Amino acid sequence: MSQGRRFVVRGTVQGVGFRPWVYRIARAAGVGGDVRNGPDGVTIHAFGDPRALDAFEQELRARPPPTAHIRDLQRTEIPGRDVEGFVIKPSEDRGERELSIPPDLATCSACAAEVLDPGNRRYRYAFTNCTSCGPRFTIATGVPYDRPATTMAAFAMCPACQREYDTPTDRRFHAQPNACPVCGPKLWLAGSRGQRRATADPIASAALLIAAGGIAAVKGLGGFHLACDARSAAAVRALRDRKRREHKPFAVMVADLATARRIARLSPAEAQQLVAPERPIVLAQRRPEAEIAGSVAPDTDLVGLFLPYTPLHHLLLAELRRPLVMTSGNRSDEPIAYRNEEAFDRLRGIADGFLLHDRPIAGRCDDSVVRVIAGAPTVLRRSRGYVPRPIPLARPVKHPVLACGAHLKNTFCLVAGDSAYLGPHIGDLETVEAADFLEEAINRMQRLLDIAPAVVAHDLHPGYVSTLYALGRPEPDKVGVQHHHAHIASAMGERGVAGPVIGVAYDGTGYGTDGTAWGGEVMIADLLGYERVATMRPVALPGGDKAIHDVWRIALAAVEDAFDGAPPLAELPVFAVPSPRERDIVHHMLVAGINAPHAHGVGRYFDAVGALVLGRSLARYEGQVAVALEAVADPRAAQPYPFSVHRRATPWEIDLRPTVRAVVGDVIAGVAPAVVAGRFHATLVAATTEVVVSVAAARGVMPVVLTGGCFQNARLTEGLVAALGDRFTLCLHGQVPPGDGGIALGQAVIAAARAEGGL
Ligand code: ZN
Ligand code: ZN
Ligand code: FE
Repeated sequence: MSQGRRFVVRGTVQGVGFRPWVYRIARAAGVGGDVRNGPDGVTIHAFGDPRALDAFEQELRARPPPTAHIRDLQRTEIPGRDVEGFVIKPSEDRGERELSIPPDLATCSACAAEVLDPGNRRYRYAFTNCTSCGPRFTIATGVPYDRPATTMAAFAMCPACQREYDTPTDRRFHAQPNACPVCGPKLWLAGSRGQRRATADPIASAALLIAAGGIAAVKGLGGFHLACDARSAAAVRALRDRKRREHKPFAVMVADLATARRIARLSPAEAQQLVAPERPIVLAQRRPEAEIAGSVAPDTDLVGLFLPYTPLHHLLLAELRRPLVMTSGNRSDEPIAYRNEEAFDRLRGIADGFLLHDRPIAGRCDDSVVRVIAGAPTVLRRSRGYVPRPIPLARPVKHPVLACGAHLKNTFCLVAGDSAYLGPHIGDLETVEAADFLEEAINRMQRLLDIAPAVVAHDLHPGYVSTLYALGRPEPDKVGVQHHHAHIASAMGERGVAGPVIGVAYDGTGYGTDGTAWGGEVMIADLLGYERVATMRPVALPGGDKAIHDVWRIALAAVEDAFDGAPPLAELPVFAVPSPRERDIVHHMLVAGINAPHAHGVGRYFDAVGALVLGRSLARYEGQVAVALEAVADPRAAQPYPFSVHRRATPWEIDLRPTVRAVVGDVIAGVAPAVVAGRFHATLVAATTEVVVSVAAARGVMPVVLTGGCFQNARLTEGLVAALGDRFTLCLHGQVPPGDGGIALGQAVIAAARAEGGL
């Protein structure tokens, strides 16, 4: 006897090939009925005998296509009917339009095979895509998401493509960017000044340029890449010189998983991330014998690898048969270039040639970065492939919120209902271009998501570009959120934890309510407020921000503090680099307390200890020394150095002066850097554990949040997971970055909670 079930599926289920997949599994299970897009998601009516329905439902729940993200699947029993077959129906009242915009999806294996098949009509066609893959967010110009509201609007489909588009059983049924060599976008090659080059095969010509040691600007999904041969030390050197990026690691694109395994040791979780449809850059342990230039990632034992995610990448790598450095097409830290003319302008003098096409990019979107930490993928930069997929919230918000993020690695966040949408990676708000990009990206996301914020959240730092932008917005309700409270709330928001929690927020710098820079904070927090229960003993930053680059200054401040003004400087190699006069000036700054603001950041202790242990006096980018210190740390060196926790006043003070004295002693005694670095990590784990356990003893056991940029450090995170994991429920980041790239989510959920409480 026929029974009926209705399923309503919410999540990222439109524009990702979900309906054709439902059609196939319904047919396979012998179920009749229909599937259609509706305002709330995808609705399925299924009819058949109970056995067939069970089989269908099991398949529906267990094996959705990898590109779909099911957030909620509701089932209702409905009266049975005898229906012939299963059909894909036109959408309710809005025509055949998708109601939400999915993230960009990496080229699927079927499309990748087509472009490499000489017998296929899309052989070597760089813009091949289908319902399971291709550009989405980066080509959307409006909503609902369908072809006229994308940058494909100007390309009229040829009859063959139109037929695919109109046939429900076709892989390209309603694939909005569907195209072929006859009707779609085209590639061309331009020289270093943008002049068009006559070539029959632009990809082969670009490959020749790269093989000869040149640098090619390649237009991708969310912007331009600069590409060069990763094996060539000379090419990598030239790229670093021209881009004025001396040390920051470059990402490397490889043709396939097998090649990735020859460059890095991959855990199963890392391999899985590499092939995920988001195609992030995955940080993995580099093999010492890997055939890539050492200058690709000089400070670390990690290498950022990723696999091709557009047909153009597949074709380029098939042509070149070698790993490619693929780094954002920009100068230094400006936003990524994404328009052809803009690329000529901004990448002139960097690129020897441009591989271009005529499908405009509607919004920039940088590559995302993932690291597997404590066995779980942790998104360190969330952009292409993830944006604009919402982060589901445990509770809907009453008022839509815009949160403007912090200063470095800026992202913003829009929240409406029970969905939080983090925007693309904007980057450091150090340039006018970055500030413009922030505004432009917020406007675009507001439009595409149709969210009109009622409340605007921002950092407490009065000088941040993001704060000034927020305060200049027309909405009357502004909420300033303390930086580390926002970090903690970000993890809570991602994990649906209401609190209170014991939040451990460790980072470089964040504005504190007392005007000093915080960053070694332990807080009891919920979404409405926080109590600062412990903090790292502050270290002075002689010369302010200059000290973050001249890390020997922080090291000097830390040792003067630890040795009470009489440190054994002559025996420490790090202090050999600054001139005696410079050292003297800094010493006087410290003694007199002039231009030496105090900072509580754990990141500053990484700078100080890293400088001492590695003998490094300078950092070329924030966090460089910390990255290097983690890289050398010997995992077997697990004995913590001494430290103190002072409980006399509130907040308690975690005092690392004994640690610094011990580190200095070991450095002078010639103990291996690997051992000192390992023991320093162990010290932070032990000190943090002691504080958390004491707070729980005094105030009750609560979930423990680990957040802030320091938790990009796998060794620190894994140490704390091991130390606290069986005593506490731990709340760690996953799809939202622990660093400042995730902070906007925390600002947003705090602002929403406060707005509900009447501000
Ligand atoms: Zn495909
Ligand atoms: Zn066509
Ligand atoms: Fe931070």
